[in-house]
Amino acid sequence: MIYLDANATTPVDPAALDAMLPFMRDYFANPSAGHAGGRTAARALHRAREQVASLLGAHPEEIVFTSGGTESINAVHASVRSLWPESRELVITGTEHAAVIESAVRWRKNGGTVVHAPVHSDGRVDLEALRSLVKPGITALVCIMWANNETGVLAPMREIVEIAHSAGALVHTDAVQAAGKVPVDVKSVPVDFLSLSGHKMHAPKGVGALYISKRVRFEPLLLGGGQENGRRSGTENVPGIVALGVAADLAQQHLNDGTKARIHAMRDRFEHVVHAAFPEMRIHGSLTHRLHNTSSFCVPGIDAAGMLILLDKVGIACSAGSACHTGALHPSQALEAMGVSARDAACTLRFSFHRFNTKPEAETAARAVIEAAMKMRAEMGEGELVSVS
Ligand code: PLP
Repeated sequence: MIYLDANATTPVDPAALDAMLPFMRDYFANPSAGHAGGRTAARALHRAREQVASLLGAHPEEIVFTSGGTESINAVHASVRSLWPESRELVITGTEHAAVIESAVRWRKNGGTVVHAPVHSDGRVDLEALRSLVKPGITALVCIMWANNETGVLAPMREIVEIAHSAGALVHTDAVQAAGKVPVDVKSVPVDFLSLSGHKMHAPKGVGALYISKRVRFEPLLLGGGQENGRRSGTENVPGIVALGVAADLAQQHLNDGTKARIHAMRDRFEHVVHAAFPEMRIHGSLTHRLHNTSSFCVPGIDAAGMLILLDKVGIACSAGSACHTGALHPSQALEAMGVSARDAACTLRFSFHRFNTKPEAETAARAVIEAAMKMRAEMGEGELVSVS
């Protein structure tokens, strides 16, 4: 299989796996226990907290381990809604992940209001519109993703923070797709909350982190034994957290060692080859402010669902937009928010590369896309072909 679906999940890095296994086999004690085994596990948590904090330019005590991106996001929204009841409004964009969209629904159910900041056709938030939407005393939280999971579009986070903070609003960013791929530094971009997920950065599934700035108050979503300094109860997933720490360390190294440029070149080569065969191919999102690993595009008239089947048959794993829930394809809300037509959205494929991919894989995948698309065209009637061009 050529795995080009890294924005859905990544393979666990062997070093992260090696680091976590002893904490399943040998050092399995509860990190809250007072004996030597417990202290070993607690020390491992401490180290992982330092590693994740270092990736983000944060203080270790600002990191709370969670079960992943979804939990981190939900915890922030629940906390802000509860602690700042007088500021009712949540500002999001239409390109957010379902975890944000759905927790915004609950925000509304809990008496708050939600407004959508529009995005331009390149997927970047309209900063002027955002400025007019964020209101002192009314807006509690601005929640905008750092990098989009479908298109890879990178948000102007610094400007977003400046706009929100100048109106006294807090900022939460879903950095699940950004953390480990691009520099994410809370000192230069002083968000108040940041969510990340282990399985998007070569750690296992079921572990993540939430950055909570020292400046802000926080009310835990999960109550119980008071773990994580009272901010997230529940016995910690020590093996997963150890792996996340190692993954954060590795990600930090790979930000500066040419890995990013290598993935970038692979992705660009892939797009170039497909584009040469299908000049009508349209890449979604900003070409300049885009994750180096992500390629979301449509070849108008070539149905993505059919392409997925053909590509799967030849061992290429990719996805259609990102809107695949429990096996069913739904129109992508993110593409819709960018003004992409329903027809083009239905013809959209997403390829997302990771550091274990190779250039020959990118070449093979591009040729497989071309072959599959040609096959689909050949199977379509003349009439449809005419309407396509
Ligand atoms: N946010 C974004 C942008 C994502 O891509 C995902 C995962 O698909 C999530 C949040 C949810 O993260 P998790 O799977 O760790 O709950």
